[in-house]
Amino acid sequence: EAFVANVAKAKTLNAFLVETPDHALAAADAADAARAAGETLKPLAGVPIGMKDLFCTKGVPATAASLILEGFTPPYESTVSGKLWDAGAGMLGKLNMDQFAMGSSNETSAFGNVISPWRRNDGGNAALTPGGSSGGSSAAIAARLCPAATGTDTGGSIRQPAAFTGISGIKPTYGRCSRWGTIAFASSLDQAGPMARDVRDCAIMLENMAGFDARDATSLQLDVPQWEAGLSSDLRGKRVGIPKEYRVDNMPAEIDALWQQGIAWLKDAGAEIVEVSLPHTKYALPAYYIIAPAEASSNLARYDGVRYGLRDLPEGAGLQDMYAATRAAGFGPEVKRRIMIGTYVLSAGFYDAYFTQASKIRTLIARDFDNAWASCDLLLTPTAPSAAFALGDKTDPLAMYLNDVFTVPSSLAGLPAMSVPGGVDAAGLPLGLQIIGKALDEQGVLNAGLALE
Ligand code: GLN
Repeated sequence: EAFVANVAKAKTLNAFLVETPDHALAAADAADAARAAGETLKPLAGVPIGMKDLFCTKGVPATAASLILEGFTPPYESTVSGKLWDAGAGMLGKLNMDQFAMGSSNETSAFGNVISPWRRNDGGNAALTPGGSSGGSSAAIAARLCPAATGTDTGGSIRQPAAFTGISGIKPTYGRCSRWGTIAFASSLDQAGPMARDVRDCAIMLENMAGFDARDATSLQLDVPQWEAGLSSDLRGKRVGIPKEYRVDNMPAEIDALWQQGIAWLKDAGAEIVEVSLPHTKYALPAYYIIAPAEASSNLARYDGVRYGLRDLPEGAGLQDMYAATRAAGFGPEVKRRIMIGTYVLSAGFYDAYFTQASKIRTLIARDFDNAWASCDLLLTPTAPSAAFALGDKTDPLAMYLNDVFTVPSSLAGLPAMSVPGGVDAAGLPLGLQIIGKALDEQGVLNAGLALE
């Protein structure tokens, strides 16, 4: 009830697009009833969570923060949300986000910016971004509107907003969480994951989100480990690699200091620190911004005014006019930019020059990580090159893309990666540390996260 009341009050953050208090309260009632009957409580009994609006939940509008899905109410439940309900959780509402998860600041939402609950302590009072694309999730958790939320991460959208708001979030290995019922952005990269106030809560959430699903062809046919039970901050015997290519030009001193602090904490926990090289790192961002838009242009072709949501049918218009009018009115500028880039790099004349090359780079990046695992078990880097910036500050799309420099390589390689709070900048704003692990080693990632916490 306290969370429901807080969500209803905290309108200025614009974190929730839809509130579903009845869903959350029903889960709490079910937990009370189970307790009264002496039953064993489910792992998330009565826990009220926020749901990124990229997940379809039965009977509740889903928009992906785009006008093109206006009026769309899914008649089905995504696998991830269904698992959370089976575990006893309830939904406080659907969370705002960057439109179709495209963005790093939440400013591409058709329903307005999400405002971070954080403020600079140096007198700068501008409203700050909560990060993106899972910015409704990060803002809601940081503001204590929910104890945990779902996020999705295609190139950093769980980790960067977690870093910007002083919370934790993990993107599991690609294939751990089913994509069924999650609105697609770039299918070979999209992964669901939890965001929460600490590492333990992330572990509990992830255990109840992951698992094989025959309805997703890329779902991994593996049992879900007991990550919470396996938590340990004892890192003796673990080697943590520091990738030298992440020491980018003009790295702000406070980001470097954060990184050094993280190294010291991991040493204290017993880890051995080694320098490693990931030589193709500098090609990751350009490769990502070819592959992700290419897949998006294909995935978003389904929004044609016929099957879902919005339909703009000008007087006397034919089918082609209807497609064009609907898509012109329904998609925001960043989504249109991605569709244009994506169709261009997939076009007959440019496919080999762009998409094929980017796919080759992706393989080289995955190989870089494989080679690094010869000398280390985990990698430690900063999550983002800066703290949260002011809303409206980054108007150049390329400057926005550069914010993903540290999160994109592990996404291209499908590896588990987590952000945990690591410190603050000169203005008192949170900074995040990123741990990257081998495929399927969520436990190692979570344990290093725990050691940093
Ligand atoms: N910021 C990146 C992008 O705009 C990543 C988004 C995401 O992970 N969903 O594509």
